[in-house]
Amino acid sequence: MKYHPDRNPDDKQAEEKFKELSEAYEVLSDSQKKAAYDQFGHAGVDGQGMGGGGFHGGFEGNFSDIFGDVFGDIFGGGGGKRRSSVQRGADLRYNLDLTLEEAVRGCEKSLRVPTLVSCEVCDGSGAKPGTSAKTCGTCGGMGQVRMQQGFFSVQQTCPTCHGSGKVIADPCNACHGQGRVEKVKTLQVKIPAGVDTGDRIRLSGEGEAGTHGGPSGDLYVQVNVREHPIFQRDGKHLYCEVPISFVDAALGGELDVPTLDGRVKLKVPAETQTGKLFRLRGKGIAPVRGGSVGDLMVKVIVETPVSLNSRQKELLREFQEATEEGKHKHSPKRHGFFDSVKKFFEDMT
Ligand SMILES: [Zn+2]
Ligand SMILES: [Zn+2]
Repeated sequence: MKYHPDRNPDDKQAEEKFKELSEAYEVLSDSQKKAAYDQFGHAGVDGQGMGGGGFHGGFEGNFSDIFGDVFGDIFGGGGGKRRSSVQRGADLRYNLDLTLEEAVRGCEKSLRVPTLVSCEVCDGSGAKPGTSAKTCGTCGGMGQVRMQQGFFSVQQTCPTCHGSGKVIADPCNACHGQGRVEKVKTLQVKIPAGVDTGDRIRLSGEGEAGTHGGPSGDLYVQVNVREHPIFQRDGKHLYCEVPISFVDAALGGELDVPTLDGRVKLKVPAETQTGKLFRLRGKGIAPVRGGSVGDLMVKVIVETPVSLNSRQKELLREFQEATEEGKHKHSPKRHGFFDSVKKFFEDMT
């Protein structure tokens, strides 16, 4: 108060001093925020019923988000101005797992969202029907009180009314004066075709109810597409690996290839090497934000035969002998590779 501009008109030095003190206050009030976080911890959340059991997978409590609003109630960061008791409700996040098929085709999901809704008994006021909230006696309705902290005074959120400026003498029985009650809401949500992991769908007004008639927050549905046993997704393109026998790879043939719309035939030319990619245009995914449909990339993997009986082994040895003479011609890669290795060692000496 000593350096307050009201007491020191036209005093530049006092003004500077006051600015410094204001900054100190900012820091202090911030550390109080932190202390309160520690103090209230998850209990603060539990008190609002958000930590209740039976709550797995989907809703990975984004506590910092929820806390953001709890703090909003307790510490109005409004620079000393009286804060309205009407607060917007917290935004909620719902983590939604989808199969690749659901994500690609779109689907409708029923979400069970534990949230806070406005109390019907007291119409969100928190006061017993027929009564109303009274002006707080501690702060006179300002929501803030002055406290002596060392050599300067600090404006602090009123501990009686938590900044709302009002106290409820006769709390509503249904919501215990909170004005909001826990409820598991069931929401039908249309998931558009083509969504991918990381996409977020905003459901306006489906978050927590506001306090004292404030607007509701939003619900964000965070999409996560689960891994698929056959396909890997990269944006709008799909990838899959298809095994092929070395005989088919050598002679060429037709492969049964899976797509999201069923099987298709893929002609594999003779002398196909392992790892070769075949592109099936338009067999990928139609992106959710529009644009051309992606492709399906099929990687053929030549498989080494296993569990051979003696007759089969014999045939392979025969085959080996038959191709021995022209092996450079029959194994172009191997031939080239060993030539390179030979040159590598020659260059070293
Ligand atoms: Zn109520
Ligand atoms: Zn008060």
